Amino acid sequence: MFAGRRSRTVDRSESDREKIRITREEFNTYWRLLQYVRPYTKWMVVSIIALIFSVGLGLILPLVIRNLVDLIFVENDLQRLNQLAIGLFAVFILQSIASFIHQLSLAFVGENAVVDIRVKVFGHLHSLSLRFFGDYRTGEIVSRITNDTSLLQSAITDDLVALLRQGLTLIGAAILLFWLDWRLTVIILLGIPFITLTMVWLGRKIRKESKAVQDALAKSASVVEESAAAVRIVKSFAREQYEIQRFSRAVRETYAAAMRRAKIGAVLGPIIGFMAFASITITLWFGAYEVIQGQLTAGELVAYLIYTMMVATPIASLAGLYARFQGAIGATERLFDLLDELPDIVSEPGAPVLPSLTGEVRFEDVSFTYSKDIPILRDVSFHAQPGQVVALVGPSGAGKSTLISLIPRFWDVVAGRVMVDGHDIRDIDLKSLRDQIGIVPQETILFSDSVFANIRYGNLDATQEEIYEAAAAANAHDFIINDLPNGYETEVGERGVKLSGGQRQRVAIARAILKNPRILILDEATSSLDSESESLVQEALEHLMEGRTSFVIAHRLSTIINADWVLVLNEGRLVEQGTHQSLLETPGGLYARLYEMQFGAPEGEGIQLLLNER
Ligand code: ADP
Repeated sequence: MFAGRRSRTVDRSESDREKIRITREEFNTYWRLLQYVRPYTKWMVVSIIALIFSVGLGLILPLVIRNLVDLIFVENDLQRLNQLAIGLFAVFILQSIASFIHQLSLAFVGENAVVDIRVKVFGHLHSLSLRFFGDYRTGEIVSRITNDTSLLQSAITDDLVALLRQGLTLIGAAILLFWLDWRLTVIILLGIPFITLTMVWLGRKIRKESKAVQDALAKSASVVEESAAAVRIVKSFAREQYEIQRFSRAVRETYAAAMRRAKIGAVLGPIIGFMAFASITITLWFGAYEVIQGQLTAGELVAYLIYTMMVATPIASLAGLYARFQGAIGATERLFDLLDELPDIVSEPGAPVLPSLTGEVRFEDVSFTYSKDIPILRDVSFHAQPGQVVALVGPSGAGKSTLISLIPRFWDVVAGRVMVDGHDIRDIDLKSLRDQIGIVPQETILFSDSVFANIRYGNLDATQEEIYEAAAAANAHDFIINDLPNGYETEVGERGVKLSGGQRQRVAIARAILKNPRILILDEATSSLDSESESLVQEALEHLMEGRTSFVIAHRLSTIINADWVLVLNEGRLVEQGTHQSLLETPGGLYARLYEMQFGAPEGEGIQLLLNER
């Protein structure tokens, strides 16, 4: 789960203190949530005024009824009776209008605030570094933005409406109760502390379970996300049942937590209801006694009873409301945890924007590690001249992908520095750095959009002409026009599944060409294409690399032979570097040895090792 910042304590005095702290935290969380309502203060005020109006009118009703009853039974004044009945209607209508305005304006505020929160969380996600996305599962993140925000939505719309309405009714009715008969009211009030304590106690339990439900939901969402994304693997291993079991386990966890929550909820309502209605019975008994004694009129008793119910109903539902608030606070905390995740790769304040690059890249004694104890790269130094093609070779796990991911600063080095055109990349504006770097990964990733939109992703300001040119340079234009059903407007499907492997790669290359970066990072695809597509892709890549400093994780011998410089990595160390020819001439060198093996062994085992192929 998202890193909890609240440290849980065990010993008794500590845990007492903790209780108070959580309450304050709850308040802070809710306060922070309400900051999202601020831009809509005007509508909030409208809503509250309408609410006060509506509740006020509701409170007048029993008084009108009191007069009605006393007129019928005591004074027999028919004319006044008619006037009062018409008055009653008028009050009802006004109250309904006020209630309508109140509900609608508050919904407007709440819905808008939730849109703002969703967009903010999504924006924040994109400011986070790769480390965050490695640590948290996609499904969980999705669940935060969807499930958790819907809980918030009810916390700032429905629940807040109910809280305000019931709170005001409660206060108003209680004041009127004192005014009508204070002795009776004191008796009823004696029950309130019991009700409140029960409510708080069970509410806390519900909050805990709500959090468990949301966690379990997030977990099952990530199972769905993962197995849908890896559906080919699931099918090829015939592991459908396995996935179904994995999912049902996760869903059962949700079920178990939801049932625990439901059980607490189910006892909460009746307990509170019982307490409230017990008070009414006492009122009826004591009130009737006072009427017989002549201390209260019949109309007053009727009004009194209606006010008691007006007090009891909010108290009974405040319990449920409190529980829902607790649930929403849990969800809010988790969203804020996400918002509080700090991006670890950021531009320094005022970092200068990188001017147009020549594309010189220099690694100076670079060491790197993902987690503290396992060094991944050690003292790597090399120098790539502008426009050079640099091939990276070495066995799988040697650190090639890690090395190239340091250039766009996906990670920060642990020691040494990475320089482009003489600037340490940590000292310059991050966006201006990444704007000048293009990446074509081994597994082509396209968005489920049209071919046109996928290419345009490389430069959102590009004209149609430029997009067609980029596609042509990537050997993609012809197949887009001739082979795809709707040409450039053809939808590529999720991750581009509707295109062939070679077509996907060429679209991705067109996208990179359109971006026109000075530095290019390329991970050659290992998946074999038929020889025609292979040569089309190869040609497209050559166009792409023209005039750019290119780093290629090489899987083809021809790439290495044609490269200007070759870096040979082994276990995180740069063991050799030079041109293909000079490396071959290094007696006893790893590259020369493995290359020799290719000619020695019929399987070509050596060069395959070097090229990271199996
Ligand atoms: P290569 O590209 O040469 O196959 P990599 O750079 O992918 O090698 O991996 C080098 C080492 O770093 C491997 O041991 C791998 O397990 C580890 N590694 C790669 N990515 C991560 C990551 N995000 N978090 C932790 N370790 C990683």
